[in-house]
Amino acid sequence: MNESTLHPGLLLVLSAPSGAGKTTLAHRLLKEVPNAIFSASFTTRRPRGKEQDGVDYHFVDVATFQEKIERSEFVEWAEVHGHFYGSPQSVVEEARARRGVAIFDIDVQGGQAIKRKHPEAVLIFVLPPSMEELERRLRDRKTDSDETIRRRMLAARSEIERGIASYDYIVLNDDFERAFQELRSVVIAERCRRGRVDLSKLKLDKTSAADASR
Ligand code: 5GP
Repeated sequence: MNESTLHPGLLLVLSAPSGAGKTTLAHRLLKEVPNAIFSASFTTRRPRGKEQDGVDYHFVDVATFQEKIERSEFVEWAEVHGHFYGSPQSVVEEARARRGVAIFDIDVQGGQAIKRKHPEAVLIFVLPPSMEELERRLRDRKTDSDETIRRRMLAARSEIERGIASYDYIVLNDDFERAFQELRSVVIAERCRRGRVDLSKLKLDKTSAADASR
């Protein structure tokens, strides 16, 4: 028996306003958590900066996205900032089959939708150190116009309010290393939760249990 025998798949949702550092945290988790699977969402927005198709997102047109909705290929989907985004259902199945940790880097409405379908999903909200720092990080990316940044800051406030009111865990990303260790600890603890651990796979030796109680 190995460690993954006891642990069925875990659905982990990471949300934060854009610029809070959640994508970097998600990629670090992907490197350090054994058997982690990144859910690359489908989106109708265009690639930004160094984003790669099939790695960061699957970039598709609106017609392709709509076909996927009709074929129920998304565990959840939403319109965000005027574009469609959807998380593939196949990742949920892959996490189960591989007994892995699926990481969804999505927004709060997406996290809440996944939780409604899969109540065992774990929702983690990443907070930026402050609103000023968030705005500075968005400007430093140099990928968005002033108008886009203004819209993103407004959206960030409401995202934070909804995240802290409904998510299971809150991680403050004022220090990347500490924030990462907190995230990792949540994953480790959640995988060991009673009810989640698959005890049917555990063969307890009855004689030694009886010996121990003597
Ligand atoms: P961006 O365009 O900056 O990469 O993402 C915009 C927002 O959409 C972010 O909050 C991001 O987390 C969210 N998002 C990305 N993929 C998905 C998805 O599949 N579903 C939902 N609901 N939100 C997503």
